[in-house]
Amino acid sequence: MKVLVIGGGIAGLTTALCCAERGMHVVIFEQASEFKEVGAGLQLSPNGTRVLYKLGLQTQLEDLAFRPKSLDMKLGHSGKNVFSIPLTDTETKYGSPYLHIHRADLLSILEKEVKNSSKCEIYTDHKVVKLVENGESASVTCSNGAVYNGDVVIGADGIHSIVREHIVGKNTARFTGNLAWRAVIPTKDLPKDLIPPSATVWTGDKRHAVTYYLRSGELVNFVGVVEQESWQKESWTERGNPQDLIQDFSSFAPEIRTLTQSIDSCFKWALHDRMPLKTWTNGRLVVLGDAAHPMLPFLAQGAVMGIEDAEILAACLENYSWSEALKTFEKIRKPRTSRVQAGARANMNLFHHGQPISRLIHYKPIQIAARLFPNFINNRQDWLYKYKAENPN
Ligand SMILES: Cc1cc2nc3c(=O)[nH]c(=O)nc-3n(C[C@H](O)[C@H](O)[C@H](O)COP(=O)(O)OP(=O)(O)OC[C@H]3O[C@@H](n4cnc5c(N)ncnc54)[C@H](O)[C@@H]3O)c2cc1C
Repeated sequence: MKVLVIGGGIAGLTTALCCAERGMHVVIFEQASEFKEVGAGLQLSPNGTRVLYKLGLQTQLEDLAFRPKSLDMKLGHSGKNVFSIPLTDTETKYGSPYLHIHRADLLSILEKEVKNSSKCEIYTDHKVVKLVENGESASVTCSNGAVYNGDVVIGADGIHSIVREHIVGKNTARFTGNLAWRAVIPTKDLPKDLIPPSATVWTGDKRHAVTYYLRSGELVNFVGVVEQESWQKESWTERGNPQDLIQDFSSFAPEIRTLTQSIDSCFKWALHDRMPLKTWTNGRLVVLGDAAHPMLPFLAQGAVMGIEDAEILAACLENYSWSEALKTFEKIRKPRTSRVQAGARANMNLFHHGQPISRLIHYKPIQIAARLFPNFINNRQDWLYKYKAENPN
């Protein structure tokens, strides 16, 4: 089987590896002239790392990752803990670790593996501008005029996917009313132990911050989300003014104020998502990753869902005819990714209670539950992390 993958992001490259592992011939098209990721971090929960480990990437990932001790929620204004879910036993509990990794590091690990695979061909500077699918075969045309034929076309081409457009028509992404600030800060520039060695959400009034370490603790990743309607540009490379970021988090605890004051370069990104699509496939075309289910980053699952998709689509293509494979893939994946999209949206409300009364109503019961019934809180993420993409049913 010959598989054409459009998009060389995390979902596209992982899909290529999962298909190549099963003997398929894979051709990847990436519109950018090189594989470049932005300077930002990524949380990879056990349901994602188990797929990457199965691909044999354990050593490369562990060399560059940071292992958080826990998932914490804190009150942003005071730094007091709401709850803390230990992550030190994730291998025992979920069969795979929770890792933090720099996006550029993950992309370069995947790229190297794809380039080493005799089953994969990879073309950069190849923007796909046209798709033809007629039941008999499928082809893609790139902006340089080159045409390629294959058995199936996999759209891993992100939130503005051309493949999705061919499947469900034009439908624009929805601005969610949230702006995300992001920055990466060298740990050596910060007071010792300023930031906890965990994945920490700092809640606030119509805003929240997320902090965690990268590259064995050499870097701290900061994401700050603020509700606002006026600025809606979606770009990983749009620079922001650090003074605006500092101002947005000026009512937060000293840890966050110290951290933000040490930021000399930052980026801003307007967060968009979509409602679940009616269908993910049409004939020999199929979408996955953000092309199929873009989501708010408030469960840290966007890339991880693309990684799960990759394993499951490859297994379907291996075990069924192409038409059955695409339908089965959608049937398995849609309920889970729709639930995750909804969960991420719900977390926006959970993280954004900054007013004293609202804090009392929403966080006090969770604090009490965490103290009295720690297992209830600790097992909150089981439905996400216990998922085994290699055996999803
Ligand atoms: C602030 C923030 C924090 C996040 N944190 C996390 C986290 O901690 N954990 C997590 O799992 N997720 C997280 N996410 C979500 C995650 O970043 C995305 O879900 C993930 O990067 C999507 O990967 P993808 O490969 O599907 O799409 P993309 O990364 O968008 O890749 C699509 C690729 O396709 C290429 N392309 C597009 N069109 C064409 C074309 N016509 N021809 C050829 N190539 C094309 C693009 O150039 C790009 O390389 C976060 C998101 C944000 C905004």
